Amino acid sequence: MIAVQEAFDILKANVPPALIQEAELPGTLGMVLAENVDSTIAMPPFDKSAMDGFALRSYDDSARFEIIETIAAGTAPRKEVGPGQCARIMTGAMLPKGADKVVMVEITEERDGFMTVTRQDSARNICYLGEDVGVGDRALNAGTLLRPAEVGVLASMGRRRVKVFRPPVVGILTTGSEIVEPGLPLHTGQIYNSNAYSIGAQAAAMGCEPVYRGIAVDDPELIGKELAALFEAVDVVLISGGVSMGEFDYVPRILEQLGGVIHFSKVAVKPGKPTVFGTRGSNVFFGLPGNPVSTFVIFEVFVKPFLYRMMGHQYRPVFMRGEMSVAYRRKNAARTAFIPVTYQDGNVEPADYHGSAHLSALTSADGLLEVAAGVHEIVEGSIVHVRQF
Ligand code: AMP
Ligand code: MG
Repeated sequence: MIAVQEAFDILKANVPPALIQEAELPGTLGMVLAENVDSTIAMPPFDKSAMDGFALRSYDDSARFEIIETIAAGTAPRKEVGPGQCARIMTGAMLPKGADKVVMVEITEERDGFMTVTRQDSARNICYLGEDVGVGDRALNAGTLLRPAEVGVLASMGRRRVKVFRPPVVGILTTGSEIVEPGLPLHTGQIYNSNAYSIGAQAAAMGCEPVYRGIAVDDPELIGKELAALFEAVDVVLISGGVSMGEFDYVPRILEQLGGVIHFSKVAVKPGKPTVFGTRGSNVFFGLPGNPVSTFVIFEVFVKPFLYRMMGHQYRPVFMRGEMSVAYRRKNAARTAFIPVTYQDGNVEPADYHGSAHLSALTSADGLLEVAAGVHEIVEGSIVHVRQF
């Protein structure tokens, strides 16, 4: 059995090289940028009005101003604003020559082609050329995860195509003679397949393309055939179940027979001790313990950061700082534990959790609390950091 940190180190040392592809902007949400993006244009690209109103000279104290033209957004001003003059201007329109201020329409009156300011206001209401981004400014770094804001920034700079890392194709095989697909009737001794769908959703949520291979009953020959087919078709194989010490837990042996090299098969983590990780040529594989909470947690803690690394991104989970509103104690502290907790207004409490089969405990939880190996107790009032999922 290896420590959690050792597992992280082994994973880090076995990340396949990231592959780069071009993507069209509308499809880039959730992808990782594979190039540094420097702006080729200034933003704003010209001095523009931040208000609907009248452009004039800030130092002009005329009683009224002749309106010399109307400037709509998207058109260039035709005239220069002189003394005693103003131009009607719309939000986003280009500031005319001569003017250095826009008086908002709300504090003006208009009569017979002239405008009067009804209340003094020192605001200039101008967005200046290049004040957001200058030509050549670094806008985004390679490795950046593209969230809606970053997609918007790329669009604002006129980028239609960008280089991104190709998300790995993730194959999923579920094992277990007792497992039944949702939608089918459940007979004695059977349970529904939740793992394939929770892992599939976890992979899809991070932009990976899951390929689902269905359920294989606990028959080594069949599992071997299914795995061999998956290895041909995908980058990463995730196998649910069949990795613990039971009589029908054939998965590690089958992986080795297929030429896989197992880098670890037992981690001092709870839940999820029998987690398997290995490589086979350019493929990597994870054997995830069948219990649904174990599968979920192991994906969050080990698989997700690994897949992000394959995509050129250093994943940092979000941690919420809070205070334990009750104490947490455990007798056996041999393993690092990840326990589902609730987080409300800075108060952290272990969720009602009966063990690694208790999947619904995760829906009432807000995150995971890591309890390091060797730690028996977290006293009430301690400051802790909850890992959001
Ligand atoms: P295993 O790792 O195959 O020994 O399975 C451990 C436990 O997880 C058993 O109680 C299984 O019935 C359960 N389990 C295995 N695979 C799944 C699955 N795909 N969905 C839900 N539970 C599962
Ligand atoms: Mg099984």
